[in-house]
Amino acid sequence: MPELFRAAQAAPMNPALPPLLADAAVVVEGGDILDAGEFGHMRALHAGPVRDLGEVTLAPATFNSHVHLEMSHLLGLTTQGQGFVPWVKSLLAQPLYELDAARVRAELFRMEQKGVGFVADISTRNAARAGALLASSGLGFVSFAEAIGSVVPPVAEDPASLLPVVEEAAACGRGAMSVAGHALYSTSGELLQAAKALCRERGLPFSLHLAEHADEDSILLRGESPFLDLLIQRGYITGYTAPGKRPVPLARDLGLLDADTLLVHSVRVDGDDIADIAKSGGTVCLCPRSNEHIGVGRAPAMAFLRAGVNVCLGTDGLCSNADLNPYGEVAWLLEKEPSLGLAQALALVTLNPARFFGRTIPWAARLGSLAGGKLARFSIVPRDVLERSDH
Ligand SMILES: [Zn+2]
Repeated sequence: MPELFRAAQAAPMNPALPPLLADAAVVVEGGDILDAGEFGHMRALHAGPVRDLGEVTLAPATFNSHVHLEMSHLLGLTTQGQGFVPWVKSLLAQPLYELDAARVRAELFRMEQKGVGFVADISTRNAARAGALLASSGLGFVSFAEAIGSVVPPVAEDPASLLPVVEEAAACGRGAMSVAGHALYSTSGELLQAAKALCRERGLPFSLHLAEHADEDSILLRGESPFLDLLIQRGYITGYTAPGKRPVPLARDLGLLDADTLLVHSVRVDGDDIADIAKSGGTVCLCPRSNEHIGVGRAPAMAFLRAGVNVCLGTDGLCSNADLNPYGEVAWLLEKEPSLGLAQALALVTLNPARFFGRTIPWAARLGSLAGGKLARFSIVPRDVLERSDH
């Protein structure tokens, strides 16, 4: 017997329905959505008990498209608003990769409570543990093992060694392990290409931090930056030859841009870069509150949208944000971008990431909208999001 979930309003993200639907109902059976629409209409079509959620705006479960769970113990321990190099120094002064499993479980639970349905996590040293923790949560996920540095054995002989084998992740049916590159300046072109080739071969998404801060430009163009000195000192890089290209053209020339690549941050981009990304079919993941916390500037969200780029949002880790709720990014963007509409803003954490991750992870394709055939995973749109949009 189906159940009808009734809400005073819904943001169904479903092209067959209005962007905001008053007195809405979602018909659910066995964890799946059978139908969605105006309550009176649904009531006439479907028998079953009604669960009235009251004066809320019901929306699909959200995606957090970029997070670093292994750094969840670093909340409140990094500099704010001073720029990338002071921030990374404050980060490197901490026990960076000491994943705190109890803390990660608590953060996953908190995300589920806030209506997150899917998480894209990056782990530099703990991908297998993060993948197992994600598999034991109720969330859909991709757990990226991040490649950093240059190609070293055994990766040189066997690129598949980049990808941790996590049985629970494969068995749960909600996610996958994959491989990401850290950034163009910290990871050799050869290693990035090997990681991307492995993702292509296995039908997996690839992720790369790209065009986040001004030091990235000066390292790539001239091989100069106090941050580069720091990377060499810490042993991430041994010797460096500047490729002499800006981030987006370099990523393009390395063959890293395509429809299964997620470009994280994309703050320091110009019109040509945006056109290149649009042409590649790539998706960008903006992390506006993290960029603000670190003090690296703002990504041109509206220019990406105008160019037809698929745009998602991520919180980044608790080393550069106050919480892992993607609605915080939506509220922040709505405040800073007056021309951003509510439905367009909600798509950044629902429809758009479902389109990107759904290409390679079937479970993700079943999120993103309130429509027949999708999973019955919901979120409630927070009041500050509604108040900041002039719908
Ligand atoms: Zn990140």
